[in-house]
Amino acid sequence: MAKKIKGIGASSGIALAKVYILDEHPIVIPTSKAKDVKEELTNITESIAKAKKDLENLQMIAKEKLGEEKAAIFEAHASILEDPAMAEEFTALVNDKNYNAASAIHEVANKYIEMFGSMDDDYFKERAADIKDVTERLIRYVLKLPVLDLAAISEEVIIIAEDLTPSQTAQLNPTFVKGFACNVGGRTSHAAIMARSLEIPAVLGLKTVLKDVKEGDTIAIDGVTGEVEINPSNKDEWNDKAKKFLEEKAELEQFRTKKTVTKDGYDKFILEGNIGSPKDVAAVLENGGEGVGLFRSEFLYMDNDHFPTEEEQFEAYKKVVTDMNGKLTVIRTLDIGGDKKLSYFKFPEEMNPFLGYRAIRFTLDRKDIFKEQIRALLRASAFGPVGIMFPMIATVDEFLAAKNFTLDCKAELEKEGVKVGKDLEIGMMVEIPAAAVNADNFAKHADFFSVGTNDLIQYSMAADRMSENVTYLYQPFNPSILRLLKLTIDGAHKHGRWAGMCGEMAGEPDAVPLLMGLGLDAYSMSATSILKARSIMSKLTLKETQELVAKALECETSEQVLKLVHDLMKDK
Ligand code: PEP
Ligand code: MG
Repeated sequence: MAKKIKGIGASSGIALAKVYILDEHPIVIPTSKAKDVKEELTNITESIAKAKKDLENLQMIAKEKLGEEKAAIFEAHASILEDPAMAEEFTALVNDKNYNAASAIHEVANKYIEMFGSMDDDYFKERAADIKDVTERLIRYVLKLPVLDLAAISEEVIIIAEDLTPSQTAQLNPTFVKGFACNVGGRTSHAAIMARSLEIPAVLGLKTVLKDVKEGDTIAIDGVTGEVEINPSNKDEWNDKAKKFLEEKAELEQFRTKKTVTKDGYDKFILEGNIGSPKDVAAVLENGGEGVGLFRSEFLYMDNDHFPTEEEQFEAYKKVVTDMNGKLTVIRTLDIGGDKKLSYFKFPEEMNPFLGYRAIRFTLDRKDIFKEQIRALLRASAFGPVGIMFPMIATVDEFLAAKNFTLDCKAELEKEGVKVGKDLEIGMMVEIPAAAVNADNFAKHADFFSVGTNDLIQYSMAADRMSENVTYLYQPFNPSILRLLKLTIDGAHKHGRWAGMCGEMAGEPDAVPLLMGLGLDAYSMSATSILKARSIMSKLTLKETQELVAKALECETSEQVLKLVHDLMKDK
């Protein structure tokens, strides 16, 4: 039976496909004795074969996406499954002690995990983690539970999950993953941001979707409106909708090669792309991006099993800067903490991690880690224009500490005879209200600002950007936010600096006319939003956007502001 639910449209596009349920429930090992020993043993043998096939598949995919070296891990995993000693131990427990298949594997695996895990050597500790990973997969097959392998998905599906972590999202292959629908999250959660850069439609904040679907169901999602239909009764309607969406997309094609210019000929606004890895540059350039306004460097750290070295980072930054071929690349220093965790580093437990030890607070405290990144950034700046940008700046002292540290590293490199770029700019994100209010003071020291509205809104409204319970407070169009933006942009201009925005608001079609009127210089967004923004700018004169802003700043509510925007855009 068809069932409709509604969530938050987080990445545009329409998709219709079979569900792939990402079941994160913990494995429960049955305690019962084996009823039929032969059956249990066959189950083990068949499950080993299935798990081995998965690992071969994963190795192939990883080789293509991540290279030979990283793919070797799956070969090591396969060799655990092929270990005859372990298989003999499973068999002995089933044969001699009547264990069921899952509990036999669990017991043997635990023995090795404990043994390797208690050794001091990191190599053996890692082996413990490998055994856990492989045997969990095996137990899932034995218990007929879904096996979670996002990178190995090889048929068209829509993923249904409680939530997707940024690294899970990064594994998705858009050829097969047609979309995803999650219980939690909103437009600015990192899963949403990555979905937009992968151009995968996504609906988040659905609350009940995991409960509403079962294996074998089909689901249709609308990543613009947030509408979702399980086992849709009218598939043709959904297919028509998908067609219309693609037609609109085609209409925007003409803006791919056009210059960014307003109706009255103002051509100083710059439209840029946000990226999470060097391979995202292609999409920015394909969509006519005029720069990279935000490279979220934390993904280099999150998709890794160690803090990336200066050399590893240098290669990544150099690739982006070179590929951008003379256009500005703004790279944000490590913005870790909050919802962004590292598998190889334990952050202190805090009541409010979003308000805690994260981003610049962490790197200023860990100069050893910071230095590797700053040196890599400075070296990359020799290959084209680079902006180094510090995240989560709250005070002028913090900014100066980070800037001076960067200048010290620069002097050190120059002393070593290493080249650093002439066009280097050192700027900051404005994502804490304290920084927005004090913007004119910051502008005495920072070369540029980039407003991180995703955080600025959550901190201004005291509304967690991850919580679907308070999304009603997450109001980019609230006059209080517009006033903070005005302070920021005016503060920058007072000292001859440029002001950009790299939060999701920059690519929001309803926001563009307001941001133009506020005088925002650079707009950095998901690559797929650039053409729409360019088309909107081409329809507006500066004067009408400035008049719009004058009225918007006097409004009381975000509904009133949005009405002004819709009235202006109605006949465009
Ligand atoms: C922001 O806060 O707006 C931003 C761009 O940073 P992130 O979304 O990575 O926190
Ligand atoms: Mg932020």
